[in-house]
Amino acid sequence: MDLAFTPEEEAFRQEVRAWVRANLPQETAHKVHNALRQTREDMQNWAKILGKKGWLTYAWPKQFGGPGWNAVQKHLFEEECALAGAPRIVPFGPVMVAPVIMAFGNAEQQQRFLPGIASGEVWWSQGYSEPGSGSDLASLKTRAERVGNKYIVNGQKTWTTLGQFGEWIFCLVRTSNEGKPQTGISFLLIDMKSPGVTVRPIKLLDGECEVNEVWFDNVEVPAENLIGEENKGWTYAKHLLAHERTNIADVNRAKRELERLKRIAKAEGVYDDVRFRDEIAKLEVDVVALEMLVLRVLSAEKSGKQSLDIAGLLKIRGSEMQQRYTELMMLAGGPYSLPFIQEAMEAGWQGDQIGALHCAPLASSYFNMRKTTIYGGSNEVQRNIVAQTVLG
Ligand SMILES: Cc1cc2nc3c(=O)[nH]c(=O)nc-3n(C[C@H](O)[C@H](O)[C@H](O)COP(=O)(O)OP(=O)(O)OC[C@H]3O[C@@H](n4cnc5c(N)ncnc54)[C@H](O)[C@@H]3O)c2cc1C
Repeated sequence: MDLAFTPEEEAFRQEVRAWVRANLPQETAHKVHNALRQTREDMQNWAKILGKKGWLTYAWPKQFGGPGWNAVQKHLFEEECALAGAPRIVPFGPVMVAPVIMAFGNAEQQQRFLPGIASGEVWWSQGYSEPGSGSDLASLKTRAERVGNKYIVNGQKTWTTLGQFGEWIFCLVRTSNEGKPQTGISFLLIDMKSPGVTVRPIKLLDGECEVNEVWFDNVEVPAENLIGEENKGWTYAKHLLAHERTNIADVNRAKRELERLKRIAKAEGVYDDVRFRDEIAKLEVDVVALEMLVLRVLSAEKSGKQSLDIAGLLKIRGSEMQQRYTELMMLAGGPYSLPFIQEAMEAGWQGDQIGALHCAPLASSYFNMRKTTIYGGSNEVQRNIVAQTVLG
């Protein structure tokens, strides 16, 4: 197993680095490096910049307009973006629904939906979870009834991330109650501007409304928006979840945040405390171990070996680390982490009386990151899956 990058790969990295440096808006990078609140414009503007270059589709195959990069190139691109302070690509369009449309959609659907995703123009949301149907997703009840050439959709989705911006939503809907719950689910693309769709925000621990409830009240959806076959949606949904879980692990962001942690610890004077430095070192070892795991997967893919089916494993380790670095940052900031002033996230920090700018978002990030072990399939459930599929 060779984990080193070749000269060609290093040259590719330099090319990406130079382009990202030249094109990433500095104000956005400042927000990302300091965990300040990003607006819709920050996120979508970066998506459009990438889209123009043809890199929002960096993981797509050439036939659908992607650059046709191999696994190592994709990894290097993700790493360079994360280290430069680029916003995370909102995954629902390019990372989640697009691969499903490519794999299971028909040519007409591919021509209709993929260009808007590739350019960053159209904002997608994910409508899987429902009240009572999260881990037990197959029990979902949102009903889609076929009437002529339409489906009539009734029901409720919940925890819809950034659904307040959503223009389209991909939904798992129940089209049959026959047989096992999994066999009666279909995959439907719904225009969120359709009459009968209502989005209601849910306020989270950090005071933000990042997630929503989405209600469907007799929403008419053209039957041509069904992906693949009716009642086969569970197969397509699983295809998407592997992409989601690998994406959540985000080892590159962990590397960037580790550096932020060190900066905060130094500025707050706790870096000199041996016991505190031990905690940073333990986290760093785990981040490097996660990176090695990612590189092992890349190496296996490069040499044509079958890659490990470890999406769940990456999700568990990555999400736990995301929580740990926010905990250590809070500890480093000490009492200055306690003020939790939302306006400070937007308008900058008040100055010396209440601590340095880097303390402003610590409480909010700490609270926000509690989500990581829940979303994308809770870590407890991921452990069950890893036990069954990886450990045997
Ligand atoms: C911030 C955030 C954003 C999200 N964004 C989206 C989104 O955009 N779209 C979307 O569709 N969904 C989204 N989700 C939903 C997410 O996928 C679910 O919350 C998750 O799958 C868990 O389901 P649940 O909340 O219903 O919890 P439950 O399934 O009710 O679980 C409750 C607890 O029981 C444990 N548990 C359940 N079953 C088992 C088991 N078999 N073995 C061991 N322990 C178990 C769980 O680990 C958890 O601790 C989001 C969630 C959060 C928190």
